[in-house]
Amino acid sequence: MCYEGALEKLRARGLKVNPERFLAEFDRMSRIGWVEGYGMNRLALSENHVAIRMDLMEQLKALGAKVKVDEAGNIIAELGEQGEAIAVGSHLDSVPGGGRFDGAYGVIAGLEVLRTIKESNVRLRHRLVLIDFNNEEGSRWSPPLLGSGLSCGVYTRDFVYSRVDRNGVRFEDALRNTGFMGSPENNISCNPPRFYVELHIEQGPELYSKGYDIGIPQGIVGIRVVELAFRGSQDHASSPLWARRDALTGLVIVKNKLEEYALERVDKLRVTIGRVNVEPNVANVVPGEVRFTVDIRSYDPNIIDETVKYIVENGEDVARRRGLDFEHRDLWYIERTLFDTQVVKTIEEACEEFEFKCLKTWSWAGHDAQNMARVSRTGMIFIPSVNGRSHSKDEYSGDEDLVKGLLTLLNVILALDSS
Ligand SMILES: [Zn+2]
Repeated sequence: MCYEGALEKLRARGLKVNPERFLAEFDRMSRIGWVEGYGMNRLALSENHVAIRMDLMEQLKALGAKVKVDEAGNIIAELGEQGEAIAVGSHLDSVPGGGRFDGAYGVIAGLEVLRTIKESNVRLRHRLVLIDFNNEEGSRWSPPLLGSGLSCGVYTRDFVYSRVDRNGVRFEDALRNTGFMGSPENNISCNPPRFYVELHIEQGPELYSKGYDIGIPQGIVGIRVVELAFRGSQDHASSPLWARRDALTGLVIVKNKLEEYALERVDKLRVTIGRVNVEPNVANVVPGEVRFTVDIRSYDPNIIDETVKYIVENGEDVARRRGLDFEHRDLWYIERTLFDTQVVKTIEEACEEFEFKCLKTWSWAGHDAQNMARVSRTGMIFIPSVNGRSHSKDEYSGDEDLVKGLLTLLNVILALDSS
């Protein structure tokens, strides 16, 4: 094991760390809702999600933690009576057919942190809090991060409660029916922790492909989504190509240009054309209209703006050359999140002490940590995802990496506690 040195250092400080127990517990809990051949079936507030949350709450209560639920259905468990809080956490809901690691890893590792601190009789100056966020994925109720959004004051209660799933179930009714309707005074914004640290799988190939143990995101990238449309003239498939005004040609040319552009900026930019509507979408008709979205992400807001400009200029150029009409509009924009520099530095030092190879990076996906960053000094710890796969049944992180992440989290908490 290449974490023996780290283990010894933590044990020398009186922490009774037990990696085997953690791995066994992770294996057991993360299988709740697992369907062989399909992947994870644990949508927010579904039967399986409720089952794993009841399991978690039972264990937290057995540890002597005070377990509360807020008005978004987030579970908040506290150890210790006084002082400001250091919180850890993540989410137990999953996308349909997802993996066992996304979210669950951070919550189950957080449970192990509480258990280790409690059993070791280590006295912390801070209270220690574990948060299990509700409806992080947004697969059942859109948008994502609903639980942290309401609890941190980013979304209003009316907005969150009125979200409806595909079967017409309102978020508010699901909270009541599953017993997770908590009270507003438990909301995180009423009593934010001093620090929040979220341990998560990377959900990308960088750490794994470059051989790093730990990733330290400096923040979460900004995301801008624009909608573009080309209008030409609908025509018969028998028409000669020179006579057409094919709207789909506009999309194809813009997409090719954009791909080249993004490949030249691969470390700074991600672009995705994820939704395309072609009219009339019939095999023997030249498309008269095509409407599509581009999701643009970068940690640098200037790069996002430049990319939008590039797309629009190209769209206008194609439209001119091909006799098409072109229009574009902004759909939404989420500003980047910067994590707390002290927390980021503490994570870096914790890795260096353990001789874990760490990489300063960015999170290209959204996490509850971005809402927590509005109320608490926040950071995240990433571990490698094999082949970068995530939101898939093939999502996997090895035992050694799971343990290294846990040990790093413990070391970070001790360091923040004495800061
Ligand atoms: Zn996640």
